[in-house]
Amino acid sequence: MVIRSREELRRMLEEERASLLKRLGREIIVEHENLGYGNHMADDATEAYEQVKDLAVRQTLERTLRDVEYALQRFKDGTYGVCEVCHKEIDWARLEAKPYATLCIRCQQIREQGLT
Ligand SMILES: [Zn+2]
Repeated sequence: MVIRSREELRRMLEEERASLLKRLGREIIVEHENLGYGNHMADDATEAYEQVKDLAVRQTLERTLRDVEYALQRFKDGTYGVCEVCHKEIDWARLEAKPYATLCIRCQQIREQGLT
């Protein structure tokens, strides 16, 4: 079997975390510059659109950051790589593709179907 070590996955997660924090730091500064609650609300439609877009990007980054930090916490707890729903081992190939996955493919599919 050709598998990478869990240690390598953990390093990938930590690098991702550092990179996300850096990007979020920049996004937060942009937010403070742009968001004018009160007197100057969206007199320009293009500007309003940019704000929404920035917020969407930031929310995606924050969601990913939470997933990454949660995965690192699971490393500490010794529960990393175990599906949270069925408690079976998550496929290694899945962890390689998405190191912060907390569900096996089967449970993920069930959850996604539930959301649509
Ligand atoms: Zn599962």
